[in-house]
Amino acid sequence: MIYLVGAGPGDPGLLTVRATELIARADVILYDRLAPAAALAGARPDAELVYVGKQGGGEQVPQEETRRLLLEHGRAGRTVVRLKGGDPFVFGRGGEEALACIEAGIPFEVVPGITAGLAAPAYAGIPVTHRELASGVAFVTGHEDPGKADAALDWPALAAFPGTLVFYMGVRALPRIAERLVAGGRPPDEPVAVVERGTLPGQRTLLATLSDVAERAAAEGVRAPAITLVGPVAGLREQLAWLERRPLHGRTIAVTRARPQASALAARLRELGAAVVEAPAIRTRPLASELPDLARYDLICVTSPNGAHALFELLDRAELDARALAGRSVAAIGPGTARALAEHGVRADVVPDRSVAEGLVEALAGNAVRRALVVRAREGRDVLPDALRARGAEVDVLAVYETVAEPIEEATARAAAQADYVTFTSASTVRHFLAAAVALDGPRVASIGPATSEALRAAGLEPDLEADPHTPDGLVAALVADAAGRRREPR
Ligand code: SAH
Repeated sequence: MIYLVGAGPGDPGLLTVRATELIARADVILYDRLAPAAALAGARPDAELVYVGKQGGGEQVPQEETRRLLLEHGRAGRTVVRLKGGDPFVFGRGGEEALACIEAGIPFEVVPGITAGLAAPAYAGIPVTHRELASGVAFVTGHEDPGKADAALDWPALAAFPGTLVFYMGVRALPRIAERLVAGGRPPDEPVAVVERGTLPGQRTLLATLSDVAERAAAEGVRAPAITLVGPVAGLREQLAWLERRPLHGRTIAVTRARPQASALAARLRELGAAVVEAPAIRTRPLASELPDLARYDLICVTSPNGAHALFELLDRAELDARALAGRSVAAIGPGTARALAEHGVRADVVPDRSVAEGLVEALAGNAVRRALVVRAREGRDVLPDALRARGAEVDVLAVYETVAEPIEEATARAAAQADYVTFTSASTVRHFLAAAVALDGPRVASIGPATSEALRAAGLEPDLEADPHTPDGLVAALVADAAGRRREPR
């Protein structure tokens, strides 16, 4: 079966559910240059991924060769996904490939995608139709081959079209497009928007008029891929540009924390408009520690979500479950740890307001503790056990996991080193990231709190910003404030 699948304009969030499903199932994926790289991340590890776009920015793999590969894999009975940027039937040669399937007698399915001509304007704050401004929209190729008579556009008809004109592949042809439309009767001051890399990190939009768009696009170095939109609706961008106004738009931020925690921080940063490089420098590894008899303790303190999960791994290995904690008081260091305990069926009795060891010590002030067990990382701090001992309790420490280096791929390290910001959320992220990565002289360095800042200084890096409060939310707020103070001029 051959699936002709649209991958959308670039933002992986704009892949359809059906596309995602098929990418995950495919034996073979034939993909283009404009198919979003993130879309391929969902492919099976053993799937064959074949690039059929431009070779090294030069020659396109000939359509004949693409067609041959497509039919060959299709005939062999494989599940073939032909993945194209945007929509397969909009300037994507999907129609030709479908006809080839018919000719070869191979069944096919078409999965529409969000086409760049709609998505790029939408992300630039331009509705392609609008009451009173445009009651129609035309998709037009700007890529005319002057050698081919039959490819010539009917410029007078286009100029007379009562609505918005959306040109694909038109960057190089901008001067001709503008000139012919004016010659055909469009007003020279009609708004034109050129949206470069629409929906991708680094999207930029030029708002001009037919009379100056060619000159301004050249001056600003506008390059493909870009959509050129002609019509009064382009002017709505002045009010409706939403993406470029996000506080972290245009900033690239590297996140070094362990993968499971990184994704929540990355998602938050993306919502605020940042492009995120996920470069986890650490990961946690459960320790096969010996489980003490929990019935001996009247208080069990858990100091991180990882600790909660690792404790339950130990219990499971000992063929026990949450009932082993029955009758004990359970303290969690913060809401994240409390949530992790709840996943295992345990409701924490004590959760402090301040999510640090000192906060837990305060929150426990009213509890009479005789014997306590502190469940934590091997390299944890001693604040909590010491404080409990000082109050006369007998304290055991159970190390249930350790933090180790996560290998960082070279390309990822390079991307992080070129980011606007690199964030560090613990001393261990600092140590392991710097051990693995190339020198950090470009990005601004963001630290979650004093302990992390100290580790940075010890490595010879002065943090440019430090979060307060020392939480992921505090870090996000500090990044937003810093970015606001270093505003780039919106176009
Ligand atoms: N099938 C695709 C179009 C392929 S033609 C679709 O439906 O979107 C290639 C042209 O699409 C590019 O020259 C450019 O004009 C446009 N394009 C594709 N991705 C784009 C993007 N992210 N931003 C702006 N234009 C894009």
